[in-house]
Amino acid sequence: MVYYSTNHKSEPATLSEAVVRGLAPDGGLYMPEHINKLPKEFFDHIQELTFQEIAFEVAKAFFGDDIPDADLKKIVYDTLPFDCPVVEVTDRIYSLELFHGPTLAFKDVGARFMARLLAYFREKGGEVNVLVATSGDTGSAVANGFLGVEGVKVYVLYPKGKVSAIQECQFTTLGKNITALEIDGVFDDCQALVKKAFQDPELNAKMKLTSANSINVARFLPQAFYYFYAYAQMKRRGLADDLVMAVPSGNFGNITAALFGHAMGLPIKRFIAANNANDVVYQYLKTGVYEPRPSIPTIANAMDVGAPSNFARILELYGNDHKAITSLISGATFTDQEIRRAMKQCYEATGYVLDPHGACGYEALKEGLKEGETGVFCETAHPAKFKDTVEGAIGAEIAIPERLAAFMAGEKQSIELTADFQKFKEYLLSR
Ligand SMILES: *Cc1c(COP(=O)(O)O)cnc(C)c1O
Repeated sequence: MVYYSTNHKSEPATLSEAVVRGLAPDGGLYMPEHINKLPKEFFDHIQELTFQEIAFEVAKAFFGDDIPDADLKKIVYDTLPFDCPVVEVTDRIYSLELFHGPTLAFKDVGARFMARLLAYFREKGGEVNVLVATSGDTGSAVANGFLGVEGVKVYVLYPKGKVSAIQECQFTTLGKNITALEIDGVFDDCQALVKKAFQDPELNAKMKLTSANSINVARFLPQAFYYFYAYAQMKRRGLADDLVMAVPSGNFGNITAALFGHAMGLPIKRFIAANNANDVVYQYLKTGVYEPRPSIPTIANAMDVGAPSNFARILELYGNDHKAITSLISGATFTDQEIRRAMKQCYEATGYVLDPHGACGYEALKEGLKEGETGVFCETAHPAKFKDTVEGAIGAEIAIPERLAAFMAGEKQSIELTADFQKFKEYLLSR
């Protein structure tokens, strides 16, 4: 498959080039040149298949030209040793739980798939160094996704004292090929160091550097697996007609993957992009005008994005046609107060505990489902990752799952650095 840039100014790339580069040289995002449809028989029998079997069929449609079936199957099966169950919340609203991976966040699947794909391509090249700046969740998913993957070293840069204790121990206690760099600064300093490193000729001549950013095709496309599997589970229940999917969205990678699924023939009737107060796409859907602006902090902080990078892919998918986009996708936006109220209402009415991100998806369905439709929202993180916020909203205590507790028992190992680029560069070169 050939990958082109959404800015249309770079040469087309192969899959391995697109994965190692992340961003195209012209600053655009890579898109596959075509989207293969899956055959009718696949959808006729999808309810009989396992998550791994479904994911493998979807992966073949994306990556089958570039990777032999046996290798791709191993990558997919290694990525998904856990389930993503659909759970009934009300008679019309279902939760697609995407938090059963190692760090209890939906980014696990993309990170794990990308790690395995990079390791696969690396067999033809040398050692790869992944640099990732994080304000919390991305670092833990990437670090755990890449843990123990041969030939790949990961450096997680995070702002000292600015990530939660749970998040910090998810990437500082791992060891092996994962190094945590505790930067004396804020998240923007971490991101600036990573950006400068990618632009530094000396560093790039001596080391192979890559990013594990969510714009990477190897990270966002595998998220399409979720939607096929959700459809299969709803079909098993006899509820797959008139399905509406609500996706809590920040950088819009998850929902873009869902839209790729739709373009491959997945019969979802329509989508709702659920936002917190960072609602530039909601505004675009309403007015046709896209105006990125600085993000504002909310209690659903993994969606605090003011200029969602994957929005360019959505425009590209539908040829910039606002009407085509709004006929399939609608938006919803919620203040912190509304998010808290949704968590409380859902808990009291059903006993189901939402996290602040999933709460946006749930609420979008509650207010937006029409007669005859059934809704599925993505529950993108385990509520225990946002323990204080959730407990404050629902007025009850929630248990910390064993997997999270195990991270917290590990020993923190990190290297302290200032936000000075020269020092960071010397450190990398000394490794
Ligand atoms: C990253 C994240 C999101 C947003 O996903 P996008 O693909 O960036 O739209 C939502 N919820 C949680 C918990 C996340 O970590």
